Amino acid sequence: MKVVLDGLTKIFPPRTGKGDGVTAVKDFTFVVPDGTLVALLGPSGCGKSTMLNMICGLEKPTKGTISFGNDDVTELPSELRGVGMVFQNYALYPHMTVYDNIIFPLGNLKGKDKLTKEQMKERADKVASLVQIEQLMARKPRELSGGQQQRVAIARALVKTPRLLLMDEPLSNLDARLRLQTREEIRRIQRETGVTTIFVTHDQEEAMSISDIIVVMKDGELHQSGKPQEVYDDPKNLFVAKFLGTPAINVFSGKVENEMLSIGNDKVLEVKGVRDGDVVVGIRPEGFVFDNEGSFHCALDRIEVMGRDISIVSRNEACEAPVVRSIVESGDRPEFGSDMVSFRLKPNKVHLFEPETGERIPFGKIKVKY
Ligand code: ADP
Ligand code: MG
Repeated sequence: MKVVLDGLTKIFPPRTGKGDGVTAVKDFTFVVPDGTLVALLGPSGCGKSTMLNMICGLEKPTKGTISFGNDDVTELPSELRGVGMVFQNYALYPHMTVYDNIIFPLGNLKGKDKLTKEQMKERADKVASLVQIEQLMARKPRELSGGQQQRVAIARALVKTPRLLLMDEPLSNLDARLRLQTREEIRRIQRETGVTTIFVTHDQEEAMSISDIIVVMKDGELHQSGKPQEVYDDPKNLFVAKFLGTPAINVFSGKVENEMLSIGNDKVLEVKGVRDGDVVVGIRPEGFVFDNEGSFHCALDRIEVMGRDISIVSRNEACEAPVVRSIVESGDRPEFGSDMVSFRLKPNKVHLFEPETGERIPFGKIKVKY
């Protein structure tokens, strides 16, 4: 089922009754295509949870509408929306067994939807097998690891065969290894069930690896959406460019004169069609090519070996961070004892931005599509 968010806005009233209140979500328009996993990505406080709460009906939008398929559900009570919800803190009932936690939502079904004990068991067994916790059914939540508790929470969210699954930072309480494993599991479960899913996270790597589409938001507003790789390759503005990618994009102050980009005194790249003046330059770590003839010079700090690739850590006065991080193949490296390093730049890994607004300035033949 597709989900249509049209001009969604949420303003929380001021606590004292005076002032403007907090605008948590602002004029947010987006369509979640049927059967996809969409990651809603943004820093803490940008309005992600407020978005999910509006979609599931726990918060009422100040403005705008929410439709499931072609049905406007903006005014529909939460329990009639057919949405499964998973939270960061699992929210399991501590005194109930895993089995009873899973079937709990089925107890609320009334009238023709009411299930017999046998039907409930059938449903519980099915979702338990899907999230691989069949052998834990008799335990209490405190007898489970964090990862297992989160699986129970996912099973509970799926037991009513929801039309939509919403997950609010579901991996944040897990340790690093479990986080990786559980995110693969969520991807698999979503593929197997085909349930339209919105997954909220502040972790760009998590969002990039798990989703069909990422939606980047900041201060309650949608900045950019698209396939993870497309958004990474074609960031619309400096915020999106900086938010995606590890190591992060390297940011420099630069200048354009006669379609030639300079960083410090180095003329580093031809940038066709760009007006003269100051620019902010973003260079992805993989955008540097180690080359003794290269025109971009940095002071060599150290080299970190990472298996197939190496990371050259250097310094440049025009860089906004203390060090420049570049990733090159391990065969390409400065000679032992050098104090300078020279690079060529890959044009499609270099992005220019307006210093005032942070908007991207396209150049050359690269087609920018948002
Ligand atoms: P995120 O989930 O991205 O961290 P939230 O949606 O929780 O962000 O919050 C977005 C903004 O709305 C924050 O500034 C937060 O303080 C504010 N906010 C959230 N819930 C309430 C509320 N019930 N009352 C007032 N302000 C709120
Ligand atoms: Mg939140």
